[in-house]
Amino acid sequence: MFYISCLSGLKKMELRVHSLTESWAIQIVSLSKNCPSLTELRIHGWIPEEAIRVFQKSQIRPDCALTIEGYRCKGGKQCSHMNDCRETVKIHLNAGGFSMEILRPPLFGN
Ligand SMILES: [Zn+2]
Repeated sequence: MFYISCLSGLKKMELRVHSLTESWAIQIVSLSKNCPSLTELRIHGWIPEEAIRVFQKSQIRPDCALTIEGYRCKGGKQCSHMNDCRETVKIHLNAGGFSMEILRPPLFGN
């Protein structure tokens, strides 16, 4: 497993990942815990259900706000991603806990 290290004094971090795997999600949550100077963490990428589950059951430092923006598949486990199964979501994990908003559908494919 890879490891994201915390640099002393790091306040803000933005990451773009192709797909937010479960191990990415675990690393991101532990980074927010292990890095006391970090106040803002933003992630962009494809968000699979297993990553959402990790964030749902995680807690982070109350003074650190985590925002994840990206697409998720609303087609379920058997989805072949051939149809328009994507929806744009924004996940917040902060002092108020976990919340997820569904944004407007993507205008362009990629
Ligand atoms: Zn799909």
